[in-house]
Amino acid sequence: MIDSIPSFARLVTELAKFPGIGRKTATRLAFFLLRQPSVEAEALATAIREMKGRIRFCSVCFHVTESDPCLLCTDTARNEHLLCVVEEPQDLIAIERSRSFRGRYHVLHGRLSPLDGVGPDDLHIGELMSRLRQGNIQEVLIATNFSVEGEATALYLARLIHPLGLRVTRPAHGIPMGSDLEYVDEATVNRAVEGRREF
Ligand SMILES: [Zn+2]
Repeated sequence: MIDSIPSFARLVTELAKFPGIGRKTATRLAFFLLRQPSVEAEALATAIREMKGRIRFCSVCFHVTESDPCLLCTDTARNEHLLCVVEEPQDLIAIERSRSFRGRYHVLHGRLSPLDGVGPDDLHIGELMSRLRQGNIQEVLIATNFSVEGEATALYLARLIHPLGLRVTRPAHGIPMGSDLEYVDEATVNRAVEGRREF
């Protein structure tokens, strides 16, 4: 039925590309948009266009930003001797929300996953090592996720960083194995970061 209405079918196809959204939910969302006033639908289209046009990755930490370097990298109130390494921008946001960390960040944009063909060169590891060699950073908190790949990535980084003579730490356990920081409650993230230990 939907295929006989090309413009509607196209919207359903696009919405179904979102993570966790199947065709059924996409169809429901499309009907919702159809019933909205044009101005509402236009506001959504504009928000998407502006986000894609303005947002880039910070050239220092690789977090999403509208200004480069980002506000986290230029905030002089933050501890520049302490660096937290995370997999994705969402993980950085989870740690910021927990208010447990006031240093700088480095976003890898992924985790090592040989089975998916993701190796060190596919992540921002080279840039991380350049930052560390500049000599300002004294402690690296490796806050990759507590999944098999996240742990393997943490171990790989620790081995690279230890020879530089820096303190390497990992959030305390308490974050359930296999869970992404993004989905862990703020109090747990806070406890894990504050109770971080030598790695
Ligand atoms: Zn930045």
